[in-house]
Amino acid sequence: MQALFLSESMEKAVYNELLPTVSLNLLRRSHTMVKIFDTTLRDGSQGEGVTFSSEDKINVAKALDAFGISYIEGGWPGSNPKDIAFFKKIKNVPLENAKIAAFGSTRRMKKKPDEDDNLRAILETGAPVATIFGKSWDLHVRDVLQVPLNVNLQMIEDTIAFLKAEGMEVIYDAEHFFDGFKADPSYAVQTLLAAQEGGARIIVLADTNGGALLHEIGPAFSEVRKRIKVPMGIHAHNDSELAVAVSIEAVKHGAVQVQGTINGYGERCGNANLCSIIPILMLKMGIDCIPEENLKKLSELSRYVSELANMTHVMKMPFVGESAFAHKGGMHVNAVMKNPRTCEHINPELVGNVRRVLVSELSGKSNVYYKAAKFGIDLSSLKDHSKKTKEILNRLKELEDSGYQFEGAEGSFDILIKKLIKQFNDYFSLKGFRVITEKRGPDQNVLSEATIKVTVDGEHELTASEGVGPVNALDRALRKALTIFYPTLKEMKLVDYKVRILETNKATEASVRVLIRSSDGTDMWGTVGVSQNIMEASWLALVDSISYKLMKDEKAGRDIKKPLKEVLDQL
Ligand SMILES: [Zn+2]
Repeated sequence: MQALFLSESMEKAVYNELLPTVSLNLLRRSHTMVKIFDTTLRDGSQGEGVTFSSEDKINVAKALDAFGISYIEGGWPGSNPKDIAFFKKIKNVPLENAKIAAFGSTRRMKKKPDEDDNLRAILETGAPVATIFGKSWDLHVRDVLQVPLNVNLQMIEDTIAFLKAEGMEVIYDAEHFFDGFKADPSYAVQTLLAAQEGGARIIVLADTNGGALLHEIGPAFSEVRKRIKVPMGIHAHNDSELAVAVSIEAVKHGAVQVQGTINGYGERCGNANLCSIIPILMLKMGIDCIPEENLKKLSELSRYVSELANMTHVMKMPFVGESAFAHKGGMHVNAVMKNPRTCEHINPELVGNVRRVLVSELSGKSNVYYKAAKFGIDLSSLKDHSKKTKEILNRLKELEDSGYQFEGAEGSFDILIKKLIKQFNDYFSLKGFRVITEKRGPDQNVLSEATIKVTVDGEHELTASEGVGPVNALDRALRKALTIFYPTLKEMKLVDYKVRILETNKATEASVRVLIRSSDGTDMWGTVGVSQNIMEASWLALVDSISYKLMKDEKAGRDIKKPLKEVLDQL
């Protein structure tokens, strides 16, 4: 069994020797450089559920700049005051890599550019770059703009010429280009020629409704290339689930700018996901687009932006999702342990992600060994290790039968192993708890209060706390009580709480599974509890969550326990 093991340092060595070399050095350098144009703050913020305050927008822009993005589209100053506020604030933020772009449309039909409010608003932002979108599809010109085709061409040209004369760098987004190109290729190209004539720095072909298919991209780019000298870019939406593929295809056909958003946020099904495009370009195609040393900050950036956008981080996201390098099947895990390259397309560390091994009914011994090793428990060094592993697996299956699920609850799993091999120390014991939820009058809010009694080293502590709900009250009371003994618990917070009803045919008699995720700013971990009573299930998950934090801090060599004398003084 021991032969299966690659120590963590050996594992790194395998990767450092092989994977990055293959990915980076052999492919490098195609001498192509693609500039990334991020529109998370404009197109991305139009996605359902995505909300950024103007402070959030500044923080996202700072993070994108530090990461090495070339252009950051901050918003549409003609459309709302929040975006104007952003441009005002960002002017005073020193940026290292990025240029700020303001978004807007071509001028109104009957206005001269300098009389057009939208264009004035763009100029007033003080941003160095303007992204102007215009119509390339004759159908839109006739039915939406309702202007003659040649007037649209004039609008494109003189809008760009005006902003350029005012000193702005102008990027032209050819809206619905691929549809327009299908309907009337000659007119679609004429709109681009108008943009070139006006002085556009880059012409971006946009698949605005996300309907383009992969095989349509190359021919369109090649055809346009014959007529247009200005460098080209791509702006793709994900309605056919091809936005990333379309963007990569465009790069293969000469696009030097890729527009997209972090985590693929955007209207309807979203925009092209930069969290996939950037590593594909850099690791698989040898194309530079951000400073190489920043690529390992990609996962962090992705999580940070999801937090500010108030969106749950999607686990299944390629490259940056929690599941992107999670292995579950026993045979898979066995192979990964022998050599991670066998089952991973890149080394997760290259994008700042981590390998995870999941435990479940599908698990073999390898999963258990790997997980235990990750927590510093070498099962193979135990006496009767084979028997012990079997015991762990059996217990695991028993728990799963009763509704436990350890995927996403690694904290509980680590504790379980430690308990089974008798290496777990109880940090505290519960004497009892009581939770009351009441509504004191028709106009009053529902309030919960929890009282809890715990013992640490023979010292009893009785604490009460209020909360917006019973679980919140219980969580607060428990942490309030224990922080007196274990000060590092102050760093912890609950970031997610999920309840699943099991055996739904039994209605209210059914068991519930509570999964919680906690964070201390450095790490995030999940724990689980199952019971017929939702409070008890929550309690079990909370207790594991706190025990895990203490175990983790103890393992890191931190002094977790306050001296008893100080505790007594405090009490
Ligand atoms: Zn768009």
